[in-house]
Amino acid sequence: MTIQEIAILIESIEKEFAECVRCGMCQSVCPLYNQTRLETDVARGKLAIIEGLRKQLFDNPAISANYMQRCLLCGSCAENCPAGVNTNEIFIKVKAVLNGCRQLPAWKKILLRKILAKPKVFNLLLSAAEKFQKIIIKNIKESPEIFKVRAGIPFFKKRSFKKLAPQPFSKIVPYLNTGKKNNGLKAAFFTGCIIDRFFPNVALSVIEVLKYHNIGIYIPKNQGCCGIPAAAAGDAEAFKKLLRYNINIFAKENFDYLITACATCTSTIKKVWKILSPDDLKEAVEDISVKTIDIHQFLTEKVKVDIKPVKTKKNLPKIIYHDPCHLKKSFGIYKEPRKLIKANSDYSFTEMESPDSCCGMGGSFNLSFYDISSDIGKIKRDNIVASGASVAATACPACMLQLIDMFSKNKDNIKVKHSIEIYAEALKNGAVE
Ligand code: SF4
Ligand code: SF4
Repeated sequence: MTIQEIAILIESIEKEFAECVRCGMCQSVCPLYNQTRLETDVARGKLAIIEGLRKQLFDNPAISANYMQRCLLCGSCAENCPAGVNTNEIFIKVKAVLNGCRQLPAWKKILLRKILAKPKVFNLLLSAAEKFQKIIIKNIKESPEIFKVRAGIPFFKKRSFKKLAPQPFSKIVPYLNTGKKNNGLKAAFFTGCIIDRFFPNVALSVIEVLKYHNIGIYIPKNQGCCGIPAAAAGDAEAFKKLLRYNINIFAKENFDYLITACATCTSTIKKVWKILSPDDLKEAVEDISVKTIDIHQFLTEKVKVDIKPVKTKKNLPKIIYHDPCHLKKSFGIYKEPRKLIKANSDYSFTEMESPDSCCGMGGSFNLSFYDISSDIGKIKRDNIVASGASVAATACPACMLQLIDMFSKNKDNIKVKHSIEIYAEALKNGAVE
């Protein structure tokens, strides 16, 4: 980052956090504070730290960076802030400033700039990891798609992992361009790394659903990561590389909407791309941000799917929906996925307690603070178990990974599915016109 870019970010941060009135309303909704009771973990405490340290930012950015790392970027504080402080935006900018003022550790630079920011290298390594996982895993008898790692390394010991798919979606459908269809709409699909590598069936369901509704589909080759791991780590350099890469990939074709089935990708493209965009990309980023839309919102608002009343059957398995923070808190989208799930007459939809509480995943937060992440996830798991559901649906593949880990840890027999998979199943049953 140039000194000028850092100065611009600092100026905008100062204006934004001056709006915090220190009311403390964010305490009651912060899942992290709820676990640790540390004022430095809640938005008010973080903002005070940033204010207190901003004059020494250039002297010791590592101190502030450590505090800023402890955040799920869940947006609960922003959603409930009476003063309208956009905490997520502030935190992302502060992280970028802090890392602009210090050297990132070498391993992070390699991971973010030499691997993640280079989609071909990233994909090659993930394909190798898919082969390698067969050597290091210990299969879980009851759940063939989940494994634990044999080695006694503490990082792996407590976790259960979803296996990387034998074929990523990008190999199954490397490219698709159907042109406009009868209803005149054409949607590009941004796959996202987790769907591509762990849940290709979710992407295949998206295609099925779009085809069913006669929407033109464009899926470009060699898509990159949306960049959130780089933004969350404060690495503006890696982030901008990915931003430029993705903009160029999608600029090759005209389309009406850019659809995603990952709540985090939607929020990154619509909100975070603008925050850290270089000047020469601002117009293109604005254009793509306006076109980006969550698949559930697209189907209910733009396609206006007509769902027939569901026939009531007895003794149906119960299904719940977990609201990903990046859909409900970022965009107020919560009715749309429920409407699509309810179209499936093979399940009985039920609400659990606090469906919109954070699952504790928080992307890299889970990697750095697994025990806290897991404690937050346990509350979510307990609420799902108490609902009696045998299927947990959600609209974010990162939440899916966290739920899978929580259920596996507790030996729960609860399936995790994406809401679009449930809707795709409903279409086969003829529930939708
Ligand atoms: S709720 Fe908003 S205004 Fe109140 S302390 Fe938290 S960030 Fe500041
Ligand atoms: S984004 Fe979430 S975890 Fe971070 S301070 Fe706000 S409420 Fe807490």
